[in-house]
Amino acid sequence: MTFLVIGAGPAGLATARVFKEAGLPFEVVERHAEIGGQWLYGAASSGVYASTHLISSKTTTAFADYPMPEDWPAYPHHAQVLDYLKSYARHFGLYPSIRFNRTVTHVARQADGWQATFDDATSHDYEGVVIANGHLTDPELPQIPGSFSGELMHSKTYKNAAIFDGKRVLIVGMGNTGCDIAVDAVHRASKVLWSVRTGNHFTPKFLAGKPADEASHKAKFVLPRRLRSILHEAVLRFVIGAPEKFGLPRPAHRLYDRTPVVNSLVLQHLGQGDIQVRPPIEELDGNRVIFTDGRTDEVDLVLLATGYRITFPFLDETALASELNWQAPAPHLHLNIFPPTDNNLFVVGMIEGAGIGWPGRDLQARTVAAYLAARRDAPDKARAFRRDIARHCVAPRPKDAGPHGIFIDFIDYKRALGKLIEQLS
Ligand SMILES: Cc1cc2nc3c(=O)[nH]c(=O)nc-3n(C[C@H](O)[C@H](O)[C@H](O)COP(=O)(O)OP(=O)(O)OC[C@H]3O[C@@H](n4cnc5c(N)ncnc54)[C@H](O)[C@@H]3O)c2cc1C
Repeated sequence: MTFLVIGAGPAGLATARVFKEAGLPFEVVERHAEIGGQWLYGAASSGVYASTHLISSKTTTAFADYPMPEDWPAYPHHAQVLDYLKSYARHFGLYPSIRFNRTVTHVARQADGWQATFDDATSHDYEGVVIANGHLTDPELPQIPGSFSGELMHSKTYKNAAIFDGKRVLIVGMGNTGCDIAVDAVHRASKVLWSVRTGNHFTPKFLAGKPADEASHKAKFVLPRRLRSILHEAVLRFVIGAPEKFGLPRPAHRLYDRTPVVNSLVLQHLGQGDIQVRPPIEELDGNRVIFTDGRTDEVDLVLLATGYRITFPFLDETALASELNWQAPAPHLHLNIFPPTDNNLFVVGMIEGAGIGWPGRDLQARTVAAYLAARRDAPDKARAFRRDIARHCVAPRPKDAGPHGIFIDFIDYKRALGKLIEQLS
């Protein structure tokens, strides 16, 4: 029987390629008319905006054996990223295995596999399901007391800086998206305020003329995560300065315990006074925003760059708990892939962490394929691994797994998956 792969973003494409090479029958179902996921600019589930460029360099982001063209910039524009993904899908002959314009509305476990239902009310039986639906689709909207008479929007629907023309704008949130959009707004808005809660570390895109993230991928000798953090934080303080010097909160976490902000422009604009920092919002009142320090500003547009919720709308609550070990705000899975039950349900792409890129998604897919092969050809190895899965899934989440519980350190994670694939082979 066939495996269903939900989604044709980078994670679904990686799964399709790996399953194809492993001779595992599969079918990808994609709700849009084209592959690309987030990189399909303008699609309903894409959070990419007109000015989006990769924040991880092309060498660390691209699939390891399918590099982006040499004459492309180090941090390509989103349109190039989509071209790259289309070329990857063509090169590995994936298009014929993808059913487009189809949404998986429900998946339910059967006695001998899974049944999927689609938006045209048809159903199909599968041996198993690889969920690659992405986790940047459902906006996280904070509950803010009061009411606002201006325009309030989430970054998911932000596409073009023209909406800022002549307006007094408040951007909320200090992730990479919030920073990108604050920089976009500087050139169009009459005033840009930036409301931030917790601090974060800032890394530049380039160091000594080279993409700053390349060095850590090439390093032969790797320090433990905490030591690496302490050392690189000192380098960053020397090269670009501590966030506090720009009026931002001091980060309460270490550099490699969260995704850092890859943006030096925002610091420059803070230093120039183009962007003014504000604390969290206390209340909205007409066109006024009252902040927790008691300060009040009149604004025309509030843009919430407050991130996304992890959701699996095609699994009902019972299945989420029993099949996917749901422990809000995300399922608690071994290596973010394997649920505790041997139910032929796997998740690929549910990872947060700078540096993981699409080679990380490829490795996840290879791990699933290695497990399926071991279950068929080396049951002792598969059984031993299942004991590891069970142990992991009952243990509490590690403290350093980030706000969604899915944060990984890309060096440790890639090593763990590589070792596991060897063990299962
Ligand atoms: C503005 C922005 C900048 C980013 N910059 C970077 C970067 O520099 N480097 C980086 O590595 N990552 C970046 N990302 C993260 C990006 O999400 C990943 O690069 C990548 O797209 C994740 O791939 P994915 O396949 O897991 O999810 P997605 O790309 O979200 O793809 C999921 C796919 O599943 C489909 N789908 C979902 N549900 C269903 C369903 N029920 N039925 C059928 N199809 C379904 C969706 O339509 C979509 O095509 C960025 C994201 C954004 C929004």
